[in-house]
Amino acid sequence: MRAGELRVYPGGEPDEERRPTPKQRRVAERVRALMDELGLDLGDPDLSETPLRVARAYDEMLAGRGGEPRMRTFPNTEGYSEMVALIDIPFYSICAHHLLPFFGAAHVAYLPGDRIVGLSKLARVVEAYARRPQTQERMTEQIIGAIVRQLRPKGAMVILQARHLCMEMRGANKPGVITTTSAINGAFVEDRVRQELLALLPSRPSAA
Ligand code: ZN
Repeated sequence: MRAGELRVYPGGEPDEERRPTPKQRRVAERVRALMDELGLDLGDPDLSETPLRVARAYDEMLAGRGGEPRMRTFPNTEGYSEMVALIDIPFYSICAHHLLPFFGAAHVAYLPGDRIVGLSKLARVVEAYARRPQTQERMTEQIIGAIVRQLRPKGAMVILQARHLCMEMRGANKPGVITTTSAINGAFVEDRVRQELLALLPSRPSAA
């Protein structure tokens, strides 16, 4: 490829050439009907493969359904008692009300009790709950619920900061607004403990 040459994949990215699953084919048929009802020109070459692309995209973006993601936890043998915080975990989710993206950053912290967990596992819990039809409020509660149930910490706190395309592109038409939700448990009801986490937060999450 020469420098400056624009490379275009007319059928989408190369990995989209994989065979669609029967479910993806059925979803694509309904997306085609939806586009037709919306008056879109299905004869437009840019739209002809769109139903299957949409079917694949939603299949991927909603792949996290299921129950509570399990984390492998370990006994806190060192007796670690300071706050453990993961700041600015980027996430991308789909709002349950409009099936449009909302995205931003999650900040997750806990005060260890008898059990601890690998930090990547906390990020994976965020990811698992993001990849389903969600409300930001429910996602916040679900993340802290999984931490409290599986780690039994002395306290936990979860903050989500996100932009919602359903509020920015339509409806309220408020571009760039960040919605913040939080949930606290145990020791984080104390102002001193909560402030320790809040002091770590960026003024604007990097993913938003
Ligand atoms: Zn929405």
